[in-house]
Amino acid sequence: MKERIEKVLVTEDEIRTRVAELGADITRDYAGKDLVLVGILKGSVVFMADLMRQIRMPLTIDFISVSSYGNKTSSDGTITLLKDLAVDIRGRDVLIVEDIVDTGSTLYHLQRLLAHRGAASVEIATLLSKPERRKVDVAVRYVGFEVPDEFVVGYGLDFNEHDRHWPFVGVLKPECYQS
Ligand code: 5GP
Repeated sequence: MKERIEKVLVTEDEIRTRVAELGADITRDYAGKDLVLVGILKGSVVFMADLMRQIRMPLTIDFISVSSYGNKTSSDGTITLLKDLAVDIRGRDVLIVEDIVDTGSTLYHLQRLLAHRGAASVEIATLLSKPERRKVDVAVRYVGFEVPDEFVVGYGLDFNEHDRHWPFVGVLKPECYQS
């Protein structure tokens, strides 16, 4: 692991503390509601697993998969679903759980899609956000950390399907991108 890391941006301790804060905020904000956490595969799985254990109220979880980075929008500007939800979200309060908001395009389209299906509300929780990169104005209710415009990996985020299992968020050494 160490030989691939240029620098650590968010440490394991910082993530643990912030995820507990987010869980407390969500527990307070959704009290009495029918909460459905919708994780976006695969990047959100680590955040999802930690966040749900910090939410102290009944909830349901499900996962959705949309077309991957670089080809996530189809020609008509909508997202392509690779795996749909299994649960019915009609009348329920959906919280989309995402690894990182970059341009905002994926979440903008997904939020509209789930709202169109009759959810009572559709909000967004993301571990990371890159505000400098935003192209689409998407309202993100819960943000773990803002990060600079650098390609980050770890804690669920990958480079070519590697490095998702790092317990922190970091930046790869330039040589990792060669070959
Ligand atoms: P958006 O639609 O906001 O432009 O893109 C969001 C998706 O792009 C994220 O879910 C993630 O898959 C990918 N992405 C954006 N920035 C990064 C990054 O710095 N590192 C990694 N590993 N994925 C990223």
